[in-house]
Amino acid sequence: MANSKYEYVREFEQTDLLLPNTWIVVRIDGRGFHKLSTKYAFEKPNDRSALDLMNAAAVSVMKEFPDVILGYGDSDEYSFIFHKSTSLFQRRASKLSTTITSTFTAHYVYLWPTYFPMKPLSPPLPSFDGRCVLYPTTKDLRNYLAWRQADCHINNLYNTIFHTLVLRGNLSPQEAEAALSTTTASAKNEMLFQGFGINYNNEPEMYRKGSVVYRAYELAPVGVPVSGNLNPDDDDGAERASLSKTAAEKEKKIRSKARIAVEHVDIIKDDFWERRPWILS
Ligand code: ATP
Ligand code: ATP
Ligand code: MG
Ligand code: MG
Ligand code: MG
Ligand code: MG
Repeated sequence: MANSKYEYVREFEQTDLLLPNTWIVVRIDGRGFHKLSTKYAFEKPNDRSALDLMNAAAVSVMKEFPDVILGYGDSDEYSFIFHKSTSLFQRRASKLSTTITSTFTAHYVYLWPTYFPMKPLSPPLPSFDGRCVLYPTTKDLRNYLAWRQADCHINNLYNTIFHTLVLRGNLSPQEAEAALSTTTASAKNEMLFQGFGINYNNEPEMYRKGSVVYRAYELAPVGVPVSGNLNPDDDDGAERASLSKTAAEKEKKIRSKARIAVEHVDIIKDDFWERRPWILS
């Protein structure tokens, strides 16, 4: 129907091309998962199967999109990082966020019976929202990821003590909330330890640190400085941008073949990044 009299309406569409040479984060978040976690009786504060399902859906997304260099998730959210040089979908924001969100949702629903064989899904079905956020420097991107991991820690410490007070301390949710309203992190740690013999640092890393999903090549050995440019902001991305088409295709193939690792490790400090220099290069 080219050149029909109706075609002018296409002009109403707005372009939403994201700035070039900036890191793209697509963050998805479950809609109404507080309610959903009650409906399917998720274990509180952390249902292991629900987190495993989130991670499995994230791995599937990474397999479908070799341009995603890293994912970080906790609770009902996941952040997917596209390399700043990506040209996927011409960097159209809505195309990127909707495709990642619907691909994640589709895998989440598809994989649900594997993780919850005794809890068949019924409407309203799980759904996720998604947004694109741009970060101009590697430092900003690192700070974004640090922000999400710090958030995971703060929420998990709170949820762990809250549910301990309710389940084992026999407080009502209102009483537990009141008891926690003014406590510092160290006071919370102390409450857990003195009151219930729980050392927060011995709680599973998956709950405390969230999940990092990345393409595993070869690790740099501990303590050995990695060759190449370690100041990420010196790198203007020109190298990747100037890769010839065949070199870029080849790199994409290598990326898509690499094993995808799921780990529960600190990504706030430098160590994770120094030992895996390919992730942000
Ligand atoms: P919104 O639609 O605004 O995102 P929401 O109910 O999803 O609302 P969030 O702030 O995203 O609110 O919080 C997600 C909630 O889902 C958590 O507070 C928690 O109650 C629940 N939840 C998510 N994952 C798990 C899990 N693995 N185990 C137990 N509860 C979980
Ligand atoms: P993109 O990812 O860019 O959207 P696409 O392959 O989905 O690529 P579209 O322009 O959206 O391309 O076209 C959808 C195509 O899907 C159609 O050209 C047709 O080949 C196929 N298709 C969709 N629905 C049907 C259907 N009901 N019966 C047969 N073919 C269909
Ligand atoms: Mg939300
Ligand atoms: Mg949510
Ligand atoms: Mg959330
Ligand atoms: Mg289509």
